[in-house]
Amino acid sequence: MSQGFSGGFSDDAPAAALLPWYDRHARALPWRVGPDALAAGERPDPYRVWLSEIMLQQTTVAAVRDYFHRFTARWPTVTALAEAEDAEVMAEWAGLGYYARARNLLKCARVVAGDHGGIFPDTEDGLRDLPGIGPYTAAAIAAIAFDRPAAVMDGNVERVLSRLFAVETPLPASKPELRALAERLTPNTRPGCYAQAVMDLGATICTPKSPACGICPVMSLCAARRTGIAADLPRKTPKKPKPTRLGIAYLVRREDGAVLLETRPDKGLLGGMLGWPGTDWAEDTPQDAPPMDVPWHDPGLEVRHTFTHFHLRLALRLAHVPTDATPDRGEFHPRATFRPASLPTVMRKAWDLAQGAWPED
Ligand code: SF4
Repeated sequence: MSQGFSGGFSDDAPAAALLPWYDRHARALPWRVGPDALAAGERPDPYRVWLSEIMLQQTTVAAVRDYFHRFTARWPTVTALAEAEDAEVMAEWAGLGYYARARNLLKCARVVAGDHGGIFPDTEDGLRDLPGIGPYTAAAIAAIAFDRPAAVMDGNVERVLSRLFAVETPLPASKPELRALAERLTPNTRPGCYAQAVMDLGATICTPKSPACGICPVMSLCAARRTGIAADLPRKTPKKPKPTRLGIAYLVRREDGAVLLETRPDKGLLGGMLGWPGTDWAEDTPQDAPPMDVPWHDPGLEVRHTFTHFHLRLALRLAHVPTDATPDRGEFHPRATFRPASLPTVMRKAWDLAQGAWPED
C-alpha cells in the first residue's frame, strides 16, 4: 500500500531541502550550467540540453560524455547538425545503440533549423511536436533549458519518489501515482535546478542497490528510510525472459583489404546503419543468404549480443575474394576509410571476432 502524502510534510519541503544541497553538490556535466554559473547569469544552451537528453535515453552519463564532446565539437549548433550528412551522423552515433534516436535526432535538427529558425520551442507542448521528443524528454528540456515547472520523470526520479513516499505498488503500475507526486512537488521557483537535483540525488545518493540515506538531504522526510525498506523500492513487476534469435553475418575481405558492407533499411533495428550483409534474425534456424557466390569459411564462431527485446546469436561466415569479385548486394569499402568504430556494436563485435579467423590467415 502506498502511503501517499501521509509522510506529513508539505509539498514544498523536498524542494526546500534539495535546492541548497544541489547548490553545493551539483554534478559537473558537460551539458549543464551549474548553479554558480546560473546565478552569474549564464543560461543553458537548449541545443546542448536536447542533444544530451536524446543521448542519455537508455544510456548512462559515463557512456555519453565522449559522444557528446565529439558531436558538439563537430556540430556546435543545431543548424550545423541539420546540415550534416546522414551517414556522418550515423557513424558518429555508432556504439551508442538505439539507432532510431540518431535518425530522429537529424530529423529534429532539420525541423528546428528549417521551421523554427534554429531556435528550439521553449514550452513542453512545443517541444513535444518535434520528432523524437516524447513526454519525458520534452519535460526535461523545458525544465532544464527553459526553467519551466515541468514534472520530469526518469528512472532516477521514479526511484527517489517511490522511496520518499514508500510507494509499494510495483512499477510500471505505480507510474501514474509517481507522476502525480512529481507534479505536486515540482516548485515554481527554480524548477530546472529542482529537476536536476532529483536526478542527481537518484544518481549519487538514492542509488538502486544501497542508498546512502545517512547523507541524504531529504532523509528526515523519507518514508522508506523510516520503515527500513528503502533498498527494496521501487518494486518491479518481473519481466518476461527475452527470447533468443539466430542469424548469420557474412564478412567478406577483398584481396586489397576492402570489406563488404551494406546499409541496413531505414526502418527496423539498426535502421540506416552500416553492417555486414546477413540473414534475417529469427527464432528459427536461419536460411543461408550469402551476398556473393564464393566459398564460405565457417570458423565456428558466433557473436552474442543483447538488444532491448531479445538476445542475438550471430554466426559468422568469412570469405576472402579477388579484387575483381562483384557482390550481389552491399558495397566494398576501402580498408583505408573503413572504421570498425563507426559500426553498431553488434557489427563491430563480429569484426573483432573475425580477426585471426580469416581463411587465409
Ligand atoms: S533517505 Fe534514503 S531512500 Fe530516502 S530518498 Fe534519501 S537516499 Fe533515498
